[in-house]
Amino acid sequence: MHKDIATPIRTKAILEKYGFSFKKSLGQNFLIDTNILRNIVDYAGLSKESGAIEIGPGIGALTEQLAKVSKKVVSFEIDQRLLPILEDTLSPYDNVKIIHQDVLKANVNEVAAEEFEGISDVMVVANLPYYVTTPIIMKLLEEGLPIRGIVVMLQKEVADRISAKPGTKEYGSLSIAIQYYTEAETVMIVPKTVFMPQPNVDSAVIRLTKREKPLVEVKDEAFFFTVTRASFAQRRKTIQNNLTSQLPKGKEKKEALLAALNRAGIDPGRRGETLSIEEFSRLSDELYADFHGE
Ligand code: SAM
Repeated sequence: MHKDIATPIRTKAILEKYGFSFKKSLGQNFLIDTNILRNIVDYAGLSKESGAIEIGPGIGALTEQLAKVSKKVVSFEIDQRLLPILEDTLSPYDNVKIIHQDVLKANVNEVAAEEFEGISDVMVVANLPYYVTTPIIMKLLEEGLPIRGIVVMLQKEVADRISAKPGTKEYGSLSIAIQYYTEAETVMIVPKTVFMPQPNVDSAVIRLTKREKPLVEVKDEAFFFTVTRASFAQRRKTIQNNLTSQLPKGKEKKEALLAALNRAGIDPGRRGETLSIEEFSRLSDELYADFHGE
């Protein structure tokens, strides 16, 4: 049996063998704790019938643990220098496919359809590059991938915003966008010491379980997200003031805005952070006729 990749000794040996230097700009903080990795993989609930999509394999620490418990792993890596290393470290596993691509530019749906033929249970599992956590998660959700959910390591501060409830200072348009598609929970807080090099921020693991259908039904999804973003444009402002400055102006618009708030049963003096997702859906539906597409 070979040793796991995710130990300080083996990781150092691999990095030295290849003269690899970390690129901060690519969010390269590798995990060196096998127990943490096993926990992450456990939260994904994979079986030998499952597929796993990984973003950023690094030197293969998480990829290896995923390969052990699932049927197939497909992993996107942007950094070409890691390809020969991965070929070496993952050589004991014949169920891993590394794709050299920026995940934000990749057609993940097409790749999943090709690589996971006959596999119905697919999860995204990753230790994300922290400079692009939000765009990656939003891309995976908005493109409607056929996945059961997402288990990822990210900045604790972002995890807090994603799973935040109304009335808290972390609650905002990101909480709403992600909770619209998924049930979000923070499952682990992770110390800096399990990374090489150690990141400057605290980390957490979140699990996002896709809903059968979005949390609320809205007339127009894009407009719903426009209204939520507009409502948090300046957190200290009231919903009326934020919407007045963010939505199109013009004669009659003030009356139309107040009438829509009234029909939705929302006091114009409230702040965005106090509105539930249901209230935002009512509000965006009431604003739709007078404010969309201008
Ligand atoms: N999975 C490894 C681990 O846990 O040790 C490495 C995780 S490291 C935080 C993030 C990885 O994502 C790095 O390997 C980095 O090169 C890669 N990466 C950064 N930006 C990327 C992008 N846009 N698309 C794909 N991979 C990316």
